[in-house]
Amino acid sequence: MLNKKSVDDINVKGKRVLVRCDFNVPLQEGKITDENRLVAALPTIKKLIADGGKVILCSHLGKPKGEPKPELSLAPVAKRLTELLGQEVVFAADPEVVGPNAKAAVAAMKDGDVVLLENTRYRKEETKNEDAFSKDLASLCDVFVNDAFGTAHRAHCSNVGVTKYVDTAVVGYLMQKEIDFLGNAVEHPERPFVAILGGAKVSSKISVINNLLDKVDTLIIGGGMAYTFFAAKGYEVGTSLLEEDYKQYALDMIQKAKDKGVKLLIPVDTVIADDFSNDANIKVVGEGGILPGWMGLDIGPKTRELFADAVKDAKTVVWNGPMGAFEMPNFAKGTIAVAKALADIDATTIIGGGDSAAAVNQLGYGDKMSHISTGGGASLEFLEGKELPGVAAANDK
Ligand code: AMP
Repeated sequence: MLNKKSVDDINVKGKRVLVRCDFNVPLQEGKITDENRLVAALPTIKKLIADGGKVILCSHLGKPKGEPKPELSLAPVAKRLTELLGQEVVFAADPEVVGPNAKAAVAAMKDGDVVLLENTRYRKEETKNEDAFSKDLASLCDVFVNDAFGTAHRAHCSNVGVTKYVDTAVVGYLMQKEIDFLGNAVEHPERPFVAILGGAKVSSKISVINNLLDKVDTLIIGGGMAYTFFAAKGYEVGTSLLEEDYKQYALDMIQKAKDKGVKLLIPVDTVIADDFSNDANIKVVGEGGILPGWMGLDIGPKTRELFADAVKDAKTVVWNGPMGAFEMPNFAKGTIAVAKALADIDATTIIGGGDSAAAVNQLGYGDKMSHISTGGGASLEFLEGKELPGVAAANDK
């Protein structure tokens, strides 16, 4: 369990409460195309309104690189939040984020009012965690609440620096839920505990593999990262994704799994293509059968069955990363099969954000999972066993 103070441990009546949310939502021509992150932030915001706080929201959106970029303004978020909350969210348009407009908006607040500040990354200090902006943010509030799990693995002004200048810094409900699910899964899993890893970035997930091998009963590896394991075993991988430098590491992990008695599953067949395209020629080949000049883009039908079978009796499953280049329909079957397998079982199922979360939601299996993380990178660092700076900065219980 999380040993940090939360919004349940403080009294915010009449106080100015700065809440760091994760409103980093996809926008197309000023329209929000996926509002999951807004919905996920509502419980904390509603609680603070109900308790009579003056609720000042802040977040980053995209990468404006330290200067105002109108297309990355949080104005559309204020509009949608107003609808979702059923009460006005005043947007404090301000190129300095905490400039005269924001200060005036906060000064005019009554208990239970909500103000949203402009994109924190309009300020160049934000991602460098420099004091000037941390102090500006702190000057607006009496209490700080961090509910932005998606950036918890970064130390920025708006989630870490600001806590140096505010006495009370706690976590919100979303942060608490994320950490409780991920933390419980990793530290006190109901067994059998199975982890499924996929995606392209082999090197970024290699420390996750190492840490999870100490915790799980079964580790499943699919997606582009599997080919480094194939190559390590001496198989032909054609033009598949491969990180040569990590072949020895893959062998070490195979050995570690043996030593620990962990079942390590890698694909037994592969969908290969002669081009990185949905229109490419396709073949299914068995273990070691990838042809020179061809690339593996999905797990094959036998592997889909093998992986589904491996989670059938699991009691805890953590999944991070697609099984293939799932954005192209011809290479999405493996990812769909894993999503379906998890939807069908009676277990705590945790989806580690990013592509796997998108896949699960698109397939309509969102409601069948125990928890879909709002933070891809943050959930991965958590699974690596790292302390997240955004969490560490909150007051201990
Ligand atoms: P990551 O950000 O590391 O989780 O990787 C996600 C990306 O990996 C997605 O865009 C997938 O299309 C890609 N991916 C997964 N498997 C493969 C593969 N076999 N070949 C190429 N790309 C892949």
